[in-house]
Amino acid sequence: MIPMVDLKRQYHTLKKEIDAAVIDVLEQTQFILGPNVTLLEEEVATYHRLPYAIGVANGTDALLLALRACGIKSGDEVITTPFTFIATAEVVAQLAATPVFVDICPNTFNIDPNRIEEKITPRTKAIIPVHLFGHPADMQPIMEIAAKYNIKVIEDCAQAFGAKYKDQLAGTIGDVGCFSFFPSKNLGGYGDGGMVITKNEEIARQIKMLRNHGSSVRYHHSIVGYNSRLDEIQAAILRVKLKHIDQFNLARRKNAAAYCAALNPKDIILPSVAEGSEHVFHQFTIRSSKRDVIANALTEKNIASAIYYPVPLHQQEVFSKLYNYSIAMPQTEMCAREVLSLPMFPELTGDEIQLIADVINHAS
Ligand SMILES: *Cc1c(COP(=O)(O)O)cnc(C)c1O
Repeated sequence: MIPMVDLKRQYHTLKKEIDAAVIDVLEQTQFILGPNVTLLEEEVATYHRLPYAIGVANGTDALLLALRACGIKSGDEVITTPFTFIATAEVVAQLAATPVFVDICPNTFNIDPNRIEEKITPRTKAIIPVHLFGHPADMQPIMEIAAKYNIKVIEDCAQAFGAKYKDQLAGTIGDVGCFSFFPSKNLGGYGDGGMVITKNEEIARQIKMLRNHGSSVRYHHSIVGYNSRLDEIQAAILRVKLKHIDQFNLARRKNAAAYCAALNPKDIILPSVAEGSEHVFHQFTIRSSKRDVIANALTEKNIASAIYYPVPLHQQEVFSKLYNYSIAMPQTEMCAREVLSLPMFPELTGDEIQLIADVINHAS
């Protein structure tokens, strides 16, 4: 059996350090906004060379609080990709704003910057590019459009901790970067967790208040906020893992290269990396018109595979009921039909990759 992600292997490698970190929190008993949250915030800020990092309860809240801090409200429009996890656009709908979808570039699976400007209206207040599967979105043209129309850019980095776009880390280019520490993400805890990073002092101040019931002085509440704090035990675990993140990402890139060398690209399209980008391969995603045949062949050999994402957001029941999208997104719809993600994690072995590739080469 080869799973999509084997979290046990990483735990066993780091067991001593992680167990000690968890026990230390139990002994200190500062469970809410304790020293590990503060230290992780400092370490994540330093990693990104930004002044502010604020821990929150999960990646969805990171996006929600970032939108609130950027002033997104009822009636506003927010441009994003339809080829992503629901959370990216769900938070827009939660604020009674409208997600406006822009089709993707099928080679990177990310929002196509050439199609953004035609969707801008006087109500457009922000763009949320998603660095899907760990490949950075094409940020330079996005930042140029945002500057021209004076709109905010909120990067969804949930799958891209440590990815680089032209030597800049994902999350440091736009106004705000949002991370998820969901266990299977490329930097994952052992429960829910998230973080927001920014160079903007006012946005940082707002997010700190929003995550803690709209309060900066205890029992004094100035705005309507949330209970959305990063858990202290998760922060302690994440501090151990953060030390290894570059090494984990490197192992993912090596595994991706091994897949590319072993797979026969006759009937499949291998993932590509745009020039100047550093992919972190949160997912290794191939495309094929024989996708379902390949998936079945893998299942027969007890090898996991997954479709991220089978239903694009403009076709999701929730959004079609809310906004009645009549637009076609041909590139996104094609990718939804053809994508297949293969097992990917730093500890995946060369033998496992060869076995998976043999099954796919034989089936396609
Ligand atoms: C996982 C994910 C989120 C949400 O993160 P959670 O921590 O699960 O709330 C948002 N956007 C993308 C692209 C994701 O993959």
